[in-house]
Amino acid sequence: MFKKLFLMAVAIGVSLGTISLVSAAEQADRWMVIHAGTLLADARKAVKAQQTIIIKNGKIVEIRDGYISPSDVAGAEDARIINLTDQFVMAGMIDSHTHVTNKLDAHTRKAAVTTTESEYALLGAVYARRILNAGFTTIRNVGGPREAVFALRNSIRKGIIQGPRIIAGGKTISPLGGHGDDNGFRPDVFATPHSGICNGADDCRRAVRNQIKYGADMIKYVATGGVLSKIATGTGQQFTDAEQKAIVQSAHAMGRKVAAHAHGKGGIDAALRAGVDSIEHGSYMDKGSIKLFKKTGAYLVPTLLAGETVAYIAVNKPGAFIPEVAAKAKRVGPVMANALYMAYKGGVKIAFGTDSGVSDHGINGRELLLMVKAGMSEKDVLISATVSAADLMGMPDSIGTLAAGKSADIIASSGNPLNDIATLLDPSFVMVRGVIAVE
Ligand SMILES: [Zn+2]
Repeated sequence: MFKKLFLMAVAIGVSLGTISLVSAAEQADRWMVIHAGTLLADARKAVKAQQTIIIKNGKIVEIRDGYISPSDVAGAEDARIINLTDQFVMAGMIDSHTHVTNKLDAHTRKAAVTTTESEYALLGAVYARRILNAGFTTIRNVGGPREAVFALRNSIRKGIIQGPRIIAGGKTISPLGGHGDDNGFRPDVFATPHSGICNGADDCRRAVRNQIKYGADMIKYVATGGVLSKIATGTGQQFTDAEQKAIVQSAHAMGRKVAAHAHGKGGIDAALRAGVDSIEHGSYMDKGSIKLFKKTGAYLVPTLLAGETVAYIAVNKPGAFIPEVAAKAKRVGPVMANALYMAYKGGVKIAFGTDSGVSDHGINGRELLLMVKAGMSEKDVLISATVSAADLMGMPDSIGTLAAGKSADIIASSGNPLNDIATLLDPSFVMVRGVIAVE
């Protein structure tokens, strides 16, 4: 029996070629040493010059002053030295709002009825790599074809393909006919609503638990209408207060954080009262909403890039959106930057997020420019894309800062982003979990 299993394992090992079946414990330790000219280990603190980051098996072991030789680190004698002595080095960025399998274009509606989960997974692999190359080593995927997204997450985690770490939501929880439903198609095309569609508190608990059962790391629901839903339902509150409370409570009870898509004030406030962990977009918030944000400690994920993208399409590409969507896109886009400024000045916690998938994957860094343009300091933008987003992911112990024990998620740029944020649009070096993606 064991011999047979062993032979099978050997056969699989041979046929897969590069994939080793030797357990991690039996492999030699993988050491790397990075010499960083300027290091921003924690975006809340000051930079340090001439630092050495010592990495073992994908994790940071130690950060030391000066440029340390591998021969001075016990066990690391054969480590590769990565020379970033003329670079600005910091923690990999985190995008808290992506749709990594999808891309908005003129064929989106056709794609919705022709693209299979398998195709979405392959597209996602390509898009995920683009996002990683742009310096984002973790993404939170808030809704999409869940089998594809979960497969992508698992394959990246196992090192089968290269991409950012994915915190995956399942299907978006949405009311029937709401922003997260498939609207505007012939009734028989989507005859059965998807697993995230629910009506009434109990049904919404079912929908949340269904996502968790099949692998969701977090829950995303729509508290209000959306800009791109193919239906003229506005951007006001859609789920009732009772439904939202049921969604948040049942997700939290199973250890999952909750993100609420919300544009209109009514829906933003209802979601905050229900206890969500983040509000996505937050376009029409007001002073009362800001009070609620501060009371509950929820994050705002501004997604200015989505606002910019849809407003641009609505103005410059007539016919790309149906009239209801175009009207919403023109209205909502420009409002988002203003909302972010209000929230920022009001002391709301802000986590970086782009809505990548509305915008092209790989230009996620453009959100950094828009946040600075909206009135945030470069330092606070960097905090939002590292420390704060890591906190929102519930992973402050492993990502968002560089320190002993944390994942070796490290990026570099040739300029100093604290003076010129645009330097991060083209990172010179990207490493995730100790594996180099760009150098
Ligand atoms: Zn989105």
